[in-house]
Amino acid sequence: MANSKYEYVKDFEQPDPLLPNTWIVVRIDGRGFHKLSDFYKFEKPNDRRALDLMNAAAAEVMKDLPDLCIAYGVSDEFSFVFHPSSQLFERRSAKLVTTIVSTFTAHYIYLWATFFPSNPLKPPFLPSFDGRAVLYPSTRILRDYMSWRQVDCHINNLYNTTFWTMVLQGKMSNTEAEQELKGTVSSDKNEILFKRFGINYNNEEEIYKKGSVLYRQYALQEPKTIQTSTEDEAVVPEAQQSKTQQEKFKKLRRKAQVVIDHVDIIKDEFWERRPWIISGKPGKLLEQN
Ligand code: ATP
Ligand code: ATP
Ligand code: MG
Ligand code: MG
Repeated sequence: MANSKYEYVKDFEQPDPLLPNTWIVVRIDGRGFHKLSDFYKFEKPNDRRALDLMNAAAAEVMKDLPDLCIAYGVSDEFSFVFHPSSQLFERRSAKLVTTIVSTFTAHYIYLWATFFPSNPLKPPFLPSFDGRAVLYPSTRILRDYMSWRQVDCHINNLYNTTFWTMVLQGKMSNTEAEQELKGTVSSDKNEILFKRFGINYNNEEEIYKKGSVLYRQYALQEPKTIQTSTEDEAVVPEAQQSKTQQEKFKKLRRKAQVVIDHVDIIKDEFWERRPWIISGKPGKLLEQN
């Protein structure tokens, strides 16, 4: 490109590389979804179509960016996790966050009509998302982050399920239900649901209780008897892997099916049976029909 006297303005751009060899979590969250969900008449407390739409958009993001190793979603938020070895966009923060946010939003809007055929999108209630990148320096902390989101999902869902059952089935006002739930613990809410409404919270759908976890599927492995999956092995940065190895991994990631699961990601078992998520090394591909 020709030099011009204006070129010096480029120096105002700040580099924003994220630390090497750390987990990168890009968390996005719907803007004003409380109002948006009212406008499009989402069912309370959980609109299944809205969750399926979030998951479908997230699956497209996973397919588009093979460097993502896992994603976890609940309500109007999704956390996308890049492996410490990832060198995507030279780990530039703004590039990673804006690419995830806009790719997700594009698919969310594109797929909207499939999930809400009779509620077309209408300004000013157009879905948009914010996003941020957070770094986690060890696998233990990354797993604690994932556990934190899943515990949050459980706590919110138990509260919302009880609240909306009291309002919709118990004919209480929002304020009455809120008042009664103030200061209650989990067992109190379970009891209200069971004794008053005959609802066993354990039988609620897994997608509501556990949220959604997306990852690439390879052959599951036997869980280990000794706990090793939380310990950090030295991560080989992509730059130090041979070109042929990088290409091989990329191909395997693209070929693997992205699955949407509603399972416990707090216990070790999930991670031990799927060691490729933490190791970054693709497993054995499954036969696909
Ligand atoms: P902000 O812009 O600060 O994120 P917000 O209105 O999006 O504000 P959140 O704390 O992100 O607030 O909460 C999202 C809200 O969206 C939930 O409280 C709920 O009311 C609604 N919501 C999201 N997903 C669903 C769903 N699947 N079914 C029903 N309601 C939903
Ligand atoms: P990156 O993902 O790194 O941004 P990019 O392919 O988007 O890669 P840019 O440097 O952003 O590359 O350049 C955008 C390119 O898009 C231009 O070089 C040009 O080829 C094309 N382009 C953008 N706008 C127009 C337009 N209005 N008409 C024709 N071509 C366009
Ligand atoms: Mg929100
Ligand atoms: Mg939210």
